[in-house]
Amino acid sequence: MRTFPIIFWFRRDLRLGDHVGLTTAIATGRPIIPVFIHDELVESHGAASKWRLGLAVEHFAKTLDGIGSRLTLRRGNALDVLQKLMAETGAETVYWSRAYDPTSIARDKVVKAALKGNGVEAKSHQGHLLFEPWTVATKTGGFYKVFTPMWKAVRTSTLASSVAPAKHLPAPDDWPNSDIIETWQMAAPMKRGADIVAKHVCVGEDAANKRLTSFINDKIDDYTQGRNFPSADNTSRLSENLTYGEISPRTCWHAGWRALGDGKSDAETFLKELVWREFAYHLAYHTPRIVTDNWNPQWDSFPWRLDGEHTLRWKQGRTGVQMVDAAMREMYVTGTMHNRGRMIVASYLSKHMMTHWNVGLDWFAECLTDWDPAANAMGWQWTAGSGPDAAPYFRIFNPDTQAEKFDNDGEYRAKFIAELYSNQTPHALDYFEAIPKSWNLKPSDTYPQPLVPIAVGRQLALDAYKNRLA
Ligand code: FAD
Repeated sequence: MRTFPIIFWFRRDLRLGDHVGLTTAIATGRPIIPVFIHDELVESHGAASKWRLGLAVEHFAKTLDGIGSRLTLRRGNALDVLQKLMAETGAETVYWSRAYDPTSIARDKVVKAALKGNGVEAKSHQGHLLFEPWTVATKTGGFYKVFTPMWKAVRTSTLASSVAPAKHLPAPDDWPNSDIIETWQMAAPMKRGADIVAKHVCVGEDAANKRLTSFINDKIDDYTQGRNFPSADNTSRLSENLTYGEISPRTCWHAGWRALGDGKSDAETFLKELVWREFAYHLAYHTPRIVTDNWNPQWDSFPWRLDGEHTLRWKQGRTGVQMVDAAMREMYVTGTMHNRGRMIVASYLSKHMMTHWNVGLDWFAECLTDWDPAANAMGWQWTAGSGPDAAPYFRIFNPDTQAEKFDNDGEYRAKFIAELYSNQTPHALDYFEAIPKSWNLKPSDTYPQPLVPIAVGRQLALDAYKNRLA
């Protein structure tokens, strides 16, 4: 009797370890055809995340080769591609790991309904989150709008152990044709920036696991304090890997608990941060508008400024406010930005510059290699004040005070701002190689005066807040 293959549609789950869907597929004993589809959703990624996703896919294809399997690459509408592949291969089952951002959910609903309508077994599996968003509820059955109660509710939840890495995927008799990834040109929008950011990415499952191990063995000891200092290499840097599913959050969670059991008390903070990621998805799932609109509609009438000439200086890292500029340049050079930097630049844009948070949200989506639709939306709305459990609007980050507290010796600013120092660091100089040539900026340029002086911007923001919302 012929055994019909299973098509496994990989998306943000590019790993073999702790992969619930893949383990379930293997358990059927049927041949597995792994597929990655460059669909409209992939097309809509910003330059940096599309490029980094391309690296992840390429790397994962090699990993599958290494265990005698093959990643079939196809381009087009996901449903069309899957239906065509089923016709070509005789597959009658499609599995995938769930995604929880509104755009993915909308796409997946259409795919599932159409496949099921055709009698196909279409099954989604857990794996991108620790807790399915519909399984975590307040005492009254609602969803959490505030982080701390959610943290308290899930902190001691017992999660199943991670599942062992897949060592072999049964192969079909014939492999379907595959696109060649280079023809997808996923690096093209990055232009010359790719060569610079390439020095900082850490691609693939093995690299992600090493990162986790090195963090747990070493950096976690001073994580609670150290995570505040942008020049210190004190955080896990796993966001880049978690976003493409090169490591599972459950693997990180169990590692955090083991560290806590070993007496590393700062592991508690790491577990908490993993739950911030869950909280972002919890909110995006229950209130999808968070990724596009003010979560709190009271902000709809707020007189935000829109994208314009003034935001170019912010995007360039030339606001003349050193902490803001250092952080923006960090993003250009490394593809990521320290969490403290993210809060400072988001606060400066949405408060001192009175600019709509969605301008920053879009720019981060364009430039971050660890872009995550839910965490980015929550981070921006939290900082701007328009989100749930947000920083109160009147709590405006003062970038100079932040510098005094968290970059007292100026190391972070010196690392990224060339114009201020005679001894220019490689990172500071790399910025000029990464940015668009059309910006026409040079290390010898004069560093600008503040675009919006800190005290002036603070007062403007407070006045607008008082007039509109008080
Ligand atoms: P660690 O400190 O080692 O934390 C471990 C993990 O916990 C992270 O990898 C991440 O998955 C999660 N985490 C930590 N802090 C947060 C947080 N505040 N919100 C949600 N999850 C968190 N994170 C992204 O992954 N992608 C984004 O696009 C993104 N955009 C942001 C935009 C703004 C305006 C702000 C304020 C924050 C944003 N964050 C985003 C959250 C946070 O800055 C990053 O997750 C963190 O800096 C990643 O570094 P790390 O992996 O070393 O984190």
